[in-house]
Amino acid sequence: MPVFDDGQTETEVPVGVVETDVLVVGSGPAGSAAALFLAELGIPNIMITKYRWTANTPRAHITNQRAMEIFRDMGIEDQVLADATDHALVGDTVFCTSIAGEEIGRIRTWGTSPAREADYQLASPCLTVDIPQTYLEPILVRNATVRGTQARFSTEYLSHTQDADGVDVRVLDRLTGSEYTIRARYLIGADGARSKVAADIGLPYQGRMDIAGSMNITFKADIAPYVGHRPSVLYWVVQPGSNVGGIGAGLVRMVRPWNEWLIVWGYDIDDEPPTVDEAAARQIVRNLLGMPELEVEITGTSLWGNNEMYATHLQQGRVFCAGDAIHRHPPSNGLGSNTSIQDSYNLAWKLAAVLRGQAAPSLLDTYSAERAPVAERIVKRANKSSREFVDIFVALGVTEAKNEAEMVEQIEERKANTPEGAAKRAALVAAMELKNYEFNAHGVELGQFYRSSAIVSDGSPPPVPTRDPDLYYQASTVPGSHLPHAWVGDNRRRFAMMDLAPYDRFTLITGIAGEAWAAAADKVAQELGVPLSTVVIGPGREVTDLYYDWAKVREVEEAGALLVRPDKHIAWRSGSLPADPARALHDALASVLGRNGV
Ligand SMILES: Cc1cc2nc3c(=O)[nH]c(=O)nc-3n(C[C@H](O)[C@H](O)[C@H](O)COP(=O)(O)OP(=O)(O)OC[C@H]3O[C@@H](n4cnc5c(N)ncnc54)[C@H](O)[C@@H]3O)c2cc1C
Repeated sequence: MPVFDDGQTETEVPVGVVETDVLVVGSGPAGSAAALFLAELGIPNIMITKYRWTANTPRAHITNQRAMEIFRDMGIEDQVLADATDHALVGDTVFCTSIAGEEIGRIRTWGTSPAREADYQLASPCLTVDIPQTYLEPILVRNATVRGTQARFSTEYLSHTQDADGVDVRVLDRLTGSEYTIRARYLIGADGARSKVAADIGLPYQGRMDIAGSMNITFKADIAPYVGHRPSVLYWVVQPGSNVGGIGAGLVRMVRPWNEWLIVWGYDIDDEPPTVDEAAARQIVRNLLGMPELEVEITGTSLWGNNEMYATHLQQGRVFCAGDAIHRHPPSNGLGSNTSIQDSYNLAWKLAAVLRGQAAPSLLDTYSAERAPVAERIVKRANKSSREFVDIFVALGVTEAKNEAEMVEQIEERKANTPEGAAKRAALVAAMELKNYEFNAHGVELGQFYRSSAIVSDGSPPPVPTRDPDLYYQASTVPGSHLPHAWVGDNRRRFAMMDLAPYDRFTLITGIAGEAWAAAADKVAQELGVPLSTVVIGPGREVTDLYYDWAKVREVEEAGALLVRPDKHIAWRSGSLPADPARALHDALASVLGRNGV
């Protein structure tokens, strides 16, 4: 028998306790992203997940600019785009009485309106796309394992104990029924909305779980002729008599254009959960589509609860939670998976810096300080958006209707040339306008501003919003803000500003008049033993401010400097070149890393 050496080493059979630096529980967006980021940074990690699969229903899909930027940073943007429905096809959210029936209205969403497109394009090199969770998770898991993550499916987290040096985690191999211990320096609980890790460390929460019930029906049917001309991800159907509990509204969501779909229904959480067999599911699909004869293949049904709950602290000792474990809310605004990925992006570089001895353990406390306010904001926004749907029903008058016939009458009244009809049309204008807070909430999507000891103030106050902070993102370089976007480059290449500040280091950005910062940064990198690069922007340097846009958004003099963290937030800035730039930079970076006085 020939023996082939394919360059792959055999996986060693563990003897005794399995050891790693970071154990990640969960392979959802938060867990698989955490594993990927740690692996990218060369940190040994194991990711376990209870089931034998990655996501088995489409769930998350709207993938916003910040998440896409993170994928760009990881070099996997192309892989995500290859499996995603393009930005141009996600925009026309439709309200109707059925897919084949009358339209009540449309709203251009996710930055596809001409009035909003500039805001979105000025803010980021990436645009919002649609990629169902069933497609995204395999990409994240695959890239994590390629870069070094040890992935264990059918492996359940049971319990843990922690001591001064690490965490002992008991896990169950669900294939063999055997239990074993994994010893990790740190543990990340990314185990979803019913997180056992969060419960075990007693995270404090505000809010309530299971405030409303929802049912998903997935199906296949080619309905391109009804939707191709108004491409969208979401078609909301207001249909008398079509409700399972609650009001007569269902969501028809595109999974793949235009032959795979997901219907979401509300049901009364205080009643027995509905049981829907295949025939009933087919009937619901045909009703909402308004196509009584349509051939439909039902591919699945499932139930889930809507929550309004967020953790106010995210860590206990060496154990952290991320994702739905710390923010639990309805899908409105499409924030769940996006925020989960960003949680992990915030945490992974800090763990790497502490594990490598580059930062003090106190850096890890800043995860909670920075991300808990984000969790609160998105949970409140998503629930408010969900409740604001009622305005559309109120505008239509269907909430007052006593029966199906009255509901139809109320919906019809919007067509009447009467004072009542005119009032209804005016109310619909206002109700549709309000939905911008769900579908074009750019400020909520991008406007995270961090306050913690990993941000060093330059004395400037936090930016004051000039427009509605939920709807509009405002770029700034005040420490705590995200690095503003601009295109830079030279005659051969074009870069987004974020491309100049990779995830594996701190980056100091300056202009030609600030070239003295480069030597200062080299000195500080040596002194602190921390990777730190300098980028000088200007003609004849690494990159040029091609459109002269960077000069307009950097908010510091050309001789000033911005210190950018691996997660692209501004750690510190200097408005001009001080007499001793090395001293100023040393003090700032040491402070960010919790190494004051070093
Ligand atoms: C219908 C619907 C539509 C949505 N649309 C969007 C959207 O458009 N955009 C968006 O950003 N978000 C959306 N979301 C929200 C999104 O799905 C969640 O926010 C996201 O899945 C959270 O990721 P997570 O990794 O924290 O948790 P999950 O995805 O729930 O993953 C939890 C992981 O933990 C594992 N696990 C659990 N317990 C254990 C255990 N004891 N041991 C080992 N492993 C365990 C599970 O196997 C799983 O891998 C939507 C949700 C729904 C229901």
